[in-house]
Amino acid sequence: MQVLEQRLRSQDLARKIVEKIHKLAPLAAKRVGQTPIKIMDFCGTHEYTITHYGIRSLMPPEVELVAGPGCPVCITPAYYVDVAIKLSLEGIRVYTYGDAYKLPGSGRRGHDIRSLEEARAAGGDVVVVYSVLDAVRMARRDRKPSLFLAVGFETTAPATASPVVAGMVPENLKILNVHRLTPPIMRYTFATHRDNPIRGVIAPGHVSTIVGAKAWKFVVEEYGIPTVVAGFEPIDVLLAVLEILRQHIEGRPRLVNEYSRAVKWEGNKRAQKLIDECCEVVDAAWRGIGFVPKSGLAFRDKYRHVDAFHEYGIKELTPEEWKYDLPPGCRCAEVTLGIAKPTDCPLFMKVCTPGTPYGPCMVSSEGACAVWARFGGGG
Ligand code: SF4
Repeated sequence: MQVLEQRLRSQDLARKIVEKIHKLAPLAAKRVGQTPIKIMDFCGTHEYTITHYGIRSLMPPEVELVAGPGCPVCITPAYYVDVAIKLSLEGIRVYTYGDAYKLPGSGRRGHDIRSLEEARAAGGDVVVVYSVLDAVRMARRDRKPSLFLAVGFETTAPATASPVVAGMVPENLKILNVHRLTPPIMRYTFATHRDNPIRGVIAPGHVSTIVGAKAWKFVVEEYGIPTVVAGFEPIDVLLAVLEILRQHIEGRPRLVNEYSRAVKWEGNKRAQKLIDECCEVVDAAWRGIGFVPKSGLAFRDKYRHVDAFHEYGIKELTPEEWKYDLPPGCRCAEVTLGIAKPTDCPLFMKVCTPGTPYGPCMVSSEGACAVWARFGGGG
């Protein structure tokens, strides 16, 4: 394993791949008829690898690496944060992942408390946990009426589903299920870029461990976009770019699983079954973007007893009621969809910094603005 890791960070190997990328890029751009060739990553950790290792600066002018919707916390609508803040101040204990602790709400629901962190400072009952199982354990022990804010993509949804299906959730704990699905937002993103199309996809590695490489077949079959499921080492990302260019030169888009050491074609069937047993797929809101068809999960009727919407009488968002929910001036929706770079936002590293995040993309370690703030993403 150590030998593999060394190889995946080998500077010699990286140099050779970069040389090949430079050699193939002009021909690939000519074949595609688009310069630069836009390649999008759909995972916050890929964006971290690209920025942390300066991969963007190694690309030839014919290749543009663009960050896509890879941060589940960034796209969680402000409404659910507002709901959690309100309940925490009313005596309901709110369990949250650390990433969502500082996530700003809308700040427009009758109080000026903008995050669960601020709610806690104001006397709200908020506890940061590493997993839903921590919340289950603590709720059992403390017997307080409580709520777990379940955010995340397909990667974390099985962890939420597992104690629900196993009947482990105590009666005093309810779950606010706001999980979101990645293939629908990928389709939405492609449509957003119609005039200047995405020509290559680096498919999300973590999500693919659950949904399987097969989940991205539609990208090739319906959109004709070369797609590579990639790991998170610099060599993984460079190989993905090289493969996409090769496919363009051959004129034969394919789905390639470069991350076969972790991702199977079929994915994790047990995890998929858990999600399916527990949840149904519903139309769902994305922060700053609005409703995306069939992009969210909701508990099936037989699990209503754990559903915070039902048990705490929380009204679910509807397309009619959803309001644009980014703070004034924040360009997170455009950043999320790869239409703008974090540095295009006038607030970047001025009003909005990792220490004082103003918009949601600066909060989570997977948010593009937070990644660019830490490592610089240009190049
Ligand atoms: Fe939003 Fe801050 Fe990013 Fe600007 S820098 S888009 S305000 S998160």
